[in-house]
Amino acid sequence: MRDGAESVDEANAEEPREQALGGCSCLAYDAGVKRINCVCGVVLEGKDDDELWKKAQAHLRADHPELVGKVSREDILAQAEEV
Ligand SMILES: [Zn+2]
Repeated sequence: MRDGAESVDEANAEEPREQALGGCSCLAYDAGVKRINCVCGVVLEGKDDDELWKKAQAHLRADHPELVGKVSREDILAQAEEV
């Protein structure tokens, strides 16, 4: 984690939420995708955290509605592996 390397008060004032994103992923990464193997056997893939999280949410709503709201983005992304 590179958090706090340049923590200036002024930088914090504007958009504190941006820090949670963990930096910009503007690079066009064709090769690397992130993958999650769901407990039900479905494999979810996304080109970045956001896409993977969106797919995971959609899958949870469709197949595991009881888990919606219980599984956080952090939980999902912690299970992701890069391929
Ligand atoms: Zn599933």
